Amino acid sequence: MNFDALPLDPLLAQAAKACGYETLTQVQAKVIPTALAGRDLMACAQTGTGKTAAFSFVLLQRLLNQPRAIGQLSALILTPTRELAIQVADSISRYSQFTELTTLAVYGGANINPQRKALARGVDILVATPGRLFDLLGQHDLSLETVDQLIVDEADRMLDMGFVRDIERTKRLLCVSHSTMLFSATFTPEVKALATKMLDNPEWINVTSASSGPQIEQKIYPLDARRKAELLAELIGRNNWQQVLVFVNTKESAERLHRELKLDGIKNAVFHGDKTQGARNRALEQFKAGELRVLVATDVAARGLDITALPLVINLELPDEPQDYVHRIGRTGRAGLSGVSISFVAKQDETALGAIEALIGKTLPREVQPGYEMGAPLPARYRELDTRVTSKAAQPKRGKGQKFGSQDGRRGQSRAKAPQRKAPQRKTSSDKASNDKARRPSSDKGFRGKR
Ligand code: AMP
Repeated sequence: MNFDALPLDPLLAQAAKACGYETLTQVQAKVIPTALAGRDLMACAQTGTGKTAAFSFVLLQRLLNQPRAIGQLSALILTPTRELAIQVADSISRYSQFTELTTLAVYGGANINPQRKALARGVDILVATPGRLFDLLGQHDLSLETVDQLIVDEADRMLDMGFVRDIERTKRLLCVSHSTMLFSATFTPEVKALATKMLDNPEWINVTSASSGPQIEQKIYPLDARRKAELLAELIGRNNWQQVLVFVNTKESAERLHRELKLDGIKNAVFHGDKTQGARNRALEQFKAGELRVLVATDVAARGLDITALPLVINLELPDEPQDYVHRIGRTGRAGLSGVSISFVAKQDETALGAIEALIGKTLPREVQPGYEMGAPLPARYRELDTRVTSKAAQPKRGKGQKFGSQDGRRGQSRAKAPQRKAPQRKTSSDKASNDKARRPSSDKGFRGKR
């Protein structure tokens, strides 16, 4: 089905065209006609299937149909994270670019005053995270009385994050006769219960079948836990990868990998919960613009981030929650494009891998990388380090100013092997051993902490 076939205002059809959209995605073909007819709905659609445009075109069309004052707050979209709020607001602004309708994103971690002033000037559509929405309602006289369209995006994530009360409270503050659309990547019993409670005679839409989901080739690279960063740097160089999103479990792991890759001359940035919103936005923009080869992220980036045509996601560490695996790999293979996900799996990750395979209902192919066979003797430099660590155990601790990794005397030396732009000749095992000696080993030890 094409956008032309929808009863959309010409200004919206023009915007769809300007975005390069011709054919409706499956979720759009099901959601847009139903919701335009005025029904509440619960849509279960995997990430990357075009659900933002599905609800955005509906809400914009309804706003254009209504006799209403421009700048009167009429639609509210709740999102679980700041990144998603910003992204959704950007998308709606693109879809409404030829109209007078205005959209604002409000979220925590940023100064509330500019958001409050923008609201006071008048906006038609508000995209909000629950915490900031309630700050604005409580302290800054925001009223939702004129809002007659509510959209809850990533409802499953909202429930995971404990926002169920906030959603229910929000609903009570809206115009009495309002419509509601719930979107969720998964359809858990909790999501079903929320939908049943919140929606009025809803249409249930499910487009999560294998054929509608993203086309992602998923692979497992088994290896020794200590060699994950080393293999990553080697693969980036050998395959000339230019845009890789790498997931780790904690902010400490992220910072550590960031340093490792930097030592290898690989341009990268971190994206985790301890970074300011500004730093996260900058990292994301640079990564999207191709200025960084690697973005090292924790699960704060696993949901909602839309990076056009991202080819590759790597799980350097497997997530504790199998569901997060699905969200992480969903950053690639979006909008009908294909993508690849590779998970580095050490012996201690096998239980987590089992839970993931049980969730997705398939066994993923294992591809051992030459030189990284499990159980093979470790390269000499790891053995040297082990010996040094053992013999140092009895000695006094390192001085305060001495940094992690300095014990091998490699800090500051150039390690320009990995980021070669052209794929190098495959190394012989003796080449590899001599190369290995020159690299500082990475260890998964101490990779635990907060996200
Ligand atoms: P979403 O699932 O909403 O995050 O959208 C994923 C990606 O699909 C975004 O990059 C959109 O720009 C893109 N997209 C949405 N609808 C269409 C469409 N009908 N044709 C092509 N791309 C689309």
